[in-house]
Amino acid sequence: MASLHSKHLSLILHAFKCMHRLSGSECHLVHCKTMRDVFNHLRDCRQDNDCPNGTAVCHTTLKLIHHWNRCHRTDCPLCQPNRSAIHTKAMMSLTEPQTSRATGDELKEWHTSVGHHMRQSLSKMMAQSMTDNSVSDGIGLQMDQLIDSCSRIESGIFQSADSREQYYYLCAQKVYDIQRLRAEILKEYDLKSVSTLVVTDDNHMNDELEVLGESDVTTIEELVNDFELISL
Ligand SMILES: [Zn+2]
Ligand SMILES: [Zn+2]
Ligand SMILES: [Zn+2]
Repeated sequence: MASLHSKHLSLILHAFKCMHRLSGSECHLVHCKTMRDVFNHLRDCRQDNDCPNGTAVCHTTLKLIHHWNRCHRTDCPLCQPNRSAIHTKAMMSLTEPQTSRATGDELKEWHTSVGHHMRQSLSKMMAQSMTDNSVSDGIGLQMDQLIDSCSRIESGIFQSADSREQYYYLCAQKVYDIQRLRAEILKEYDLKSVSTLVVTDDNHMNDELEVLGESDVTTIEELVNDFELISL
């Protein structure tokens, strides 16, 4: 059941992000809208037979939100695939190719005062600021690729800076920008505000997701059908 719940969680995370974007209403994913409607409905849902979504959808959605908000397990079969996908996506958007500069590699006087090793370690520092040691980020994007992208960013700074001091300053500024942007991207998936919309009783919300009945599985399968982690 783990992969069904994990996909359901992906849809929740995606829909939550869309809910906070102006363009959310234009999202092309059919069930994104369905899930956003579920969020709105959850405030009033009494999880009885009147529930238009089927109680399994509401109940499981609530449980998954609650679980995501509290789970810190790095080997969690529900959260870890989602965390990895989000972190990978964040890193991808941070390393998007820079607009190429037509200046070429002209040699400036101060360039000789910064060694190759220093430049390499600055690139590495930028790459590290894109990752989170507490989470294994390892889907598709390896550290080598990250350092490679960061070397290009570093080269751009190296070429444009007019002094060694400015070069160091701009590199530090870049690391700061990366960390700030990264935090912003990850915040889009912080479901805490959803759980405050609904009354949750911690005592009745354990982390175990119960085995769903067959018709419930079908309902949720329909909901998450065709939804892939890549859509996060
Ligand atoms: Zn969407
Ligand atoms: Zn409901
Ligand atoms: Zn988890």
